[in-house]
Amino acid sequence: MGHRIWIMAMLFAVLCPNAAGQSEAERLRIVATTTQAADLMRILSADIHGLSLTALMGPGVDPHLYQPTEADIAAMNAAQMVVYSGLRLEGQFDTVFSALAEQGITIYALGALVKDAGFIIGGFDLSETLVNVDDPHFWFDPLNWQLSAEGLAGALAALDPANAAAYLANAAAYIEELQRLYEWADAGLRSIAEGQRYLVTSHDAFQYFGGVFSWRLQAIQGLSTEDEAGVGDIQDTVDFVIENDIPVLFVESSVPPDTIEAVIAAARAQGRDVRIGIRELFGDAMGEPDAFGGTYIGMLAQNALTIMQSYQCMGVAVEIGAWPPGLNPEPPEEIWNADCDA
Ligand SMILES: [Zn+2]
Repeated sequence: MGHRIWIMAMLFAVLCPNAAGQSEAERLRIVATTTQAADLMRILSADIHGLSLTALMGPGVDPHLYQPTEADIAAMNAAQMVVYSGLRLEGQFDTVFSALAEQGITIYALGALVKDAGFIIGGFDLSETLVNVDDPHFWFDPLNWQLSAEGLAGALAALDPANAAAYLANAAAYIEELQRLYEWADAGLRSIAEGQRYLVTSHDAFQYFGGVFSWRLQAIQGLSTEDEAGVGDIQDTVDFVIENDIPVLFVESSVPPDTIEAVIAAARAQGRDVRIGIRELFGDAMGEPDAFGGTYIGMLAQNALTIMQSYQCMGVAVEIGAWPPGLNPEPPEEIWNADCDA
């Protein structure tokens, strides 16, 4: 008898929150794959009632390698829309996405409008031959991210017409913030002399960042982390660092640091004063949700600050402009003030 009551209680506990809350709390279920996609969804759906958001990938997760779990697949199956980055960033999701699309679930790629507008950069594979692939890291250009905000707001408005005006207003306000972020980062990053603007990283995530802010790039690995870096890739990067007299190299938060450390060790063995950036750069994943780098604006600002401050610490002239008044989140003291000995 006791056993039976226990089971009834379990059933009650499991069923009741859904039965009571489904119509309002979960009118619209949306799943976002990457940390950037989840951040944009949160911003555009602010103050919309009855919308639930499930974010699949956490901070520091590499989206090229991430395999959807059973819980992820269940969440996507139960959703009306899945928002993803696209251009094959989520390399392990192809079959899941086609199955979901067949069921009539909206699969929305944030890269779609950027690609339609012609702002997608082609990529090189590891053998340095131009291959016909789209570089998926389009969000590192904040002007591209404005297009993603516009496109996603349109998709949400179509899915949920009753709240269309709110999605579009949220997007318009956010696009203005992204413009102010872009102008601040652009002025600072361009204050470094043109011949000294080199961004050396573990994998090729920063072509768009380099493109929009006029920095030259070198990466040990290609566009995806799916292929392993070889000895030749490391030697090429050592040569590049020595030839161009580059004082600082950067580790990405979503990629292990060992290849960058190998390059630094080899360059130092040849008598060069090379060091690692004062902080990791956010590559394909943003920071912890409550940290400054846990939002797109904070992530991009922290990357820009980390690059500018790391060069400043090596004696390079940099002018970091005042933070745009009212732009949130504001960099905390420990990010705004560089610790060159970190
Ligand atoms: Zn990547």
